Amino acid sequence: MLLTGGTGGAKLVLGFHEEAAPEDLVVVCNTADDSVVHGLHVSPDVDTIVYTLAGLIDPAKGWGIQGDTFTVLDQLRRLGNETWFRLGDRDIATHLTRTRLLAEGQPLSRVTAALCAEFGVRSTVLPMSDQRVETRLSTSEGELSFQEYFVKARWQPEVLSLRYLGSEDCRASPGLLDAIREAAMVVVCPSNPVTSIAPILAVPGVREALRETSARVAAVSPMVQGRSFSGPAHRLMATLGVEASSAGLASAYHDFVDVLVIDQGDRKLRPAIERLGVGVRVASIRMDTLDDKKRLARELLRLVD
Ligand code: GDP
Repeated sequence: MLLTGGTGGAKLVLGFHEEAAPEDLVVVCNTADDSVVHGLHVSPDVDTIVYTLAGLIDPAKGWGIQGDTFTVLDQLRRLGNETWFRLGDRDIATHLTRTRLLAEGQPLSRVTAALCAEFGVRSTVLPMSDQRVETRLSTSEGELSFQEYFVKARWQPEVLSLRYLGSEDCRASPGLLDAIREAAMVVVCPSNPVTSIAPILAVPGVREALRETSARVAAVSPMVQGRSFSGPAHRLMATLGVEASSAGLASAYHDFVDVLVIDQGDRKLRPAIERLGVGVRVASIRMDTLDDKKRLARELLRLVD
C-alpha cells in the first residue's frame, strides 16, 4: 500500500507498478486539494495517479493527459472565465464523468473505481475519504485554497498556518483502515508532507491504523539538505512544528514510520533520525528516469524481505 499526493508520489507509484503485481497495489490519495472548477469536481492527486497507472500521464508536466489539447479552456477564457487552473480537453471528460456520477449520488471512492476500470487500471486507487476535506492556508495575502496558493500564486505568499477543513468529521474511505492493517507493506511516498500526506493522516483512524499495523511502514523523503526536489514542502514544514529537513520529516512521522529512506546528501542526519526511533536507509531518492523509479521501488520491496 502506498500513501501519496500527486506529482512526486506518482513517480514512486509508477516504480512500484513496474516492479510489483499491479493488482496487489492499493494507492491511497490525498483529496484535500480537490476543487470545483467551472462547475466540475476536479481531484488532482487522484487523477495524476490514475493517469500514471493508465500510462496516460503527461511526463513533462507531471499532471494531465499526454498530448491533450486546450480548446475548451481557450474558449472559456474568451467567455471571461478565469483559466489559471489548466484543464485539457480529454482531462475535462474525466471531470465531467466524475461530476455526473457524484451528482447521481455515488461516493467518490466508487466513482474513482469506475474511472479506474474504464482506464484499464488494475491497481486499487482509494481517495482518502468520500467526504469533502479542504486544505485552507492562512497567508500573507489572505486565506487561500491549496490551488489558489500553489497554482495561481505560484506558492509565493508566506504561509502562516494551515488547516484541513472537514477532516475531523470525515470518515476514511470504505476499506481503507482495514487495508492499512492488512497490508504486507506501507510506503509513505515522497509527497509534500504538509499538503499531501498530513491531510491523509488527519482522516480519523488513519494514523492509529498506521501505528497498529504489523506491516513495515517506510517513508521516502521528498527533500535533501533542507530543500524539496520541487515545490514548497520545505517552506511549509514549520506549520507542522518541525524543521525543514529529512530529520524534521522523521519527527513528524516518528510515531508510525519504521524506516525513513533519505538521500546520500542527508546521510549525516542518520544519528538524529535514529534517536527518534526511526530506522534509516540511505539511497538515491531522486527519480528522474523510469529506472530511478524502479530502483527505488525495488529498494523498498527489499526492506520487507
Ligand atoms: P503534489 O500533490 O503535486 O504536490 O505532489 P506530491 O505531494 O505527491 O509531491 C510533491 C513532492 O514531491 C515535493 O515535496 C517534491 O520535493 C517531491 N519530489 C518531486 N520529485 C521527487 C523526486 O524525484 N524524488 C523525491 N524523493 N521526491 C520528489
